[in-house]
Amino acid sequence: MPHIDRLKDFKRFPLAHLPTPLAPLERLSAQLGGPRLMIKRDDCTGLAFGGNKTRKLEFLVADALAQGANRLVTEGGLQSNSVRQTVAAAVRAGLKCTLVLDENVDWREPAYRQSGNLMLDRLLGADIVFCEKGTPRADVFPGVMEDLRRAGEKPYFIPTGGSNAIGGLGYAQCAFELMDQAAAANITIDHVVLATGSGGSQGGFLAGLRAARSAMRCHGIDIDNDVPGVRAAVVAIAAETGAMLGVTDPDDSDVVIHDGYAAPAYGLPNDAMRAAVKLLARTEAILLDPVYSGKGMAGMLGLIEQGAFAADETVVFIHTGGAPTLFGYTSLFQ
Ligand SMILES: *Cc1c(COP(=O)(O)O)cnc(C)c1O
Repeated sequence: MPHIDRLKDFKRFPLAHLPTPLAPLERLSAQLGGPRLMIKRDDCTGLAFGGNKTRKLEFLVADALAQGANRLVTEGGLQSNSVRQTVAAAVRAGLKCTLVLDENVDWREPAYRQSGNLMLDRLLGADIVFCEKGTPRADVFPGVMEDLRRAGEKPYFIPTGGSNAIGGLGYAQCAFELMDQAAAANITIDHVVLATGSGGSQGGFLAGLRAARSAMRCHGIDIDNDVPGVRAAVVAIAAETGAMLGVTDPDDSDVVIHDGYAAPAYGLPNDAMRAAVKLLARTEAILLDPVYSGKGMAGMLGLIEQGAFAADETVVFIHTGGAPTLFGYTSLFQ
């Protein structure tokens, strides 16, 4: 039985182009001379520039529709990839969409407030509530939900990054899909590396590995500069999504989160990120982003340098998307 069939009992609203490609990074592997490197192209999920949130939204939107919602409400920073994919998902499902956006990154480039994901949110027709400077969005969205209900609407709330037990099913799906691709290609994948933030992707992926009793190791690279916070989120979602998939004996020894690539803060650049973004552009024509996948790739390169992987092992980088934010950080790559 293919692993993907483990999800057949859950409602899904189709949004993503699946399976996403699994491709060798031949030029990069040759240049680095370490383990065999491959990439899982979750930047190519296809929904309005794609990204990892699209997989979660297939399950979240199905739940919203089952509950009779007429509107999605979500929250994030000005350049959130998750928010942009949520607006696009709402369009596809015929739902309205409200965004609560705050300024969680101290990045002064004018394009950051005009271009990238924020421009796309506007193009896709979102209703946007901007939090006042210094007011976190968590203080604002409960009131927005309340006002919508009072006006007779049925809003469905999607938390930061779509990261909850239902959203986690989207990354269990990614794990199952990857295991099926490896089996079809007759290869063994030893390690997976991805950028981890609100925890739903890594948590859901681990839930999938646990359900299938896979020996694949999943390495999260912290991009929040807060390993304890990220770890708590990953542990919780791995357990909750795992329970939905029948995992009865959760054991957190598989939760691996690497520190040291997020500094100075979430959304602010560092040299290793910038070098990794340039390296992938110039060896493989793959576009990473400054906030997530660039720091995630810097993490994978760091692990290779530290000898974390054997030369005969296969390591898959999950490209979680995010390239639209490059347009808010143009000064870094000129
Ligand atoms: C949200 C996001 C991540 C992190 O995923 P989580 O599920 O929030 O941990 C990684 N990469 C990109 C490009 C993202 O937008």
